[in-house]
Amino acid sequence: MNQDFSHCFYRETSCNRDCLDLETDALLIYRLVEKVMGHKHSFLLLAVFFLALTCMGYGSDLHRTKQADFLPDFNGGMLLIDINSGREIASYRKDVIYERRYSPGSLIKVFLLYDLWRQGLVDPAQKIFCPPSRGRERYCWDVAGHKETDLRRAIAYSCNHYFLKLAEREDLNSFLRALAAFRIISEENYNPYSKLPREEQEKLMIGDSSCLQVTPYKILLAYSCIFNGGYLFDSTDGKNPGTRIHIDAELKNIISQGLRASAINGTSRRAGQEVLPCWLLGKTGTSPYTNGYGMVSNNGATHGWFVGFIPADNPCVGLIVFCEKGNGANDAAVIGGRILHLWLEGNFENPR
Ligand SMILES: [Zn+2]
Repeated sequence: MNQDFSHCFYRETSCNRDCLDLETDALLIYRLVEKVMGHKHSFLLLAVFFLALTCMGYGSDLHRTKQADFLPDFNGGMLLIDINSGREIASYRKDVIYERRYSPGSLIKVFLLYDLWRQGLVDPAQKIFCPPSRGRERYCWDVAGHKETDLRRAIAYSCNHYFLKLAEREDLNSFLRALAAFRIISEENYNPYSKLPREEQEKLMIGDSSCLQVTPYKILLAYSCIFNGGYLFDSTDGKNPGTRIHIDAELKNIISQGLRASAINGTSRRAGQEVLPCWLLGKTGTSPYTNGYGMVSNNGATHGWFVGFIPADNPCVGLIVFCEKGNGANDAAVIGGRILHLWLEGNFENPR
C-alpha cells in the first residue's frame, strides 16, 4: 500500500518534498538573515548569496545529487524508515546497519531517561551545574562545561555530567530491562554488565563505554517508538504490527524539545536545520571505536552517530547514520542532514 506523506510537512500546502527547490532554500536563508540583519541588508545579502551560488554551480549540483553521488565517500551505514510502519525507505551498508554491533554513545541517554522517568526519579525542572574541566579532572565531553543545565538543555547538548548525575540514581538491571523492553539488547545479555564496577556501570548508562554494543537498526526502531505513539517494530519490512510501549506524554514532549533544541543550536546543529523545509529532531552520539563484532580497538578513534526525525511536531520519517570513524556532531549529523535533504527532494522511493 502506498503511504501518503503529504501530512508530514511543516508547511502542508506549499512544502512537500516535490516542491523543495533552490527557491525554498533561498527563502529560508533569506528569512534567517532577515531575522538577524533586518529587511534591507537581507535583500542585499540574498543577492550576494545567489551570485555566489551561480559561481559555485551549487544550484545545479544540488538537484543532480543522488544517493550514489555521495554515499561511496561515506564510510559507515544509514537507514531511513517510515516510523509509522517501520518500513525501510532506503539503506546503505545493510551489514553495518542490521548485523554489526557498535557502542551507541550518547544515543543511549534517552533510554536511561525513559527508565528513570518511569520510576519517578526525574525532576525536569532540576538544574545541575556542569563545571569546566580542570587538568585531568574531566566533568563533561565539553571541557568548558555546560554551566547551569536543565533536562532539555542536557539533552540538546548531550551533557555527560548531567546524565551521570541521573545515572547515579539508576539500578543497572532496571536500565538493562528497559533496553530489553525496547529490544535494543536481548534479555540474556545482562550478566557481563553486572560484573562491572559501579563507576563503569554509570558510564555505560550514559553511553561512555564500549561494553554495551548494539545494532544501529534496533536503536532507530527504539527511538521511532517514542515518536510514533509507542509502536515498537522488530523488523523493517513493514509487515510487523509492532508491540506497544507506554511513552508518557510529558516525557515525549521533553525529549522532543531537547532534540529540537539539539538541531537548532545543540550537538545536531550541523545537520543543517536552516536549509531543511521542516523542523528537525536530532540526537548525536560519539562512542569508542569497535570492529563491529564485539572487539574493541585501541587506536583512539571514535564512531559517530546521528538519529533524526522529520517533521518535528509529528514525525513520519526516521533516520540513523553511523560513521565508522568520526563523531556525532561534526560527521554523522552533517551526513544525516544531507540524507534528509535528499529524501525531501525525492531521491528515495516512498515505502510500498
Ligand atoms: Zn556538560
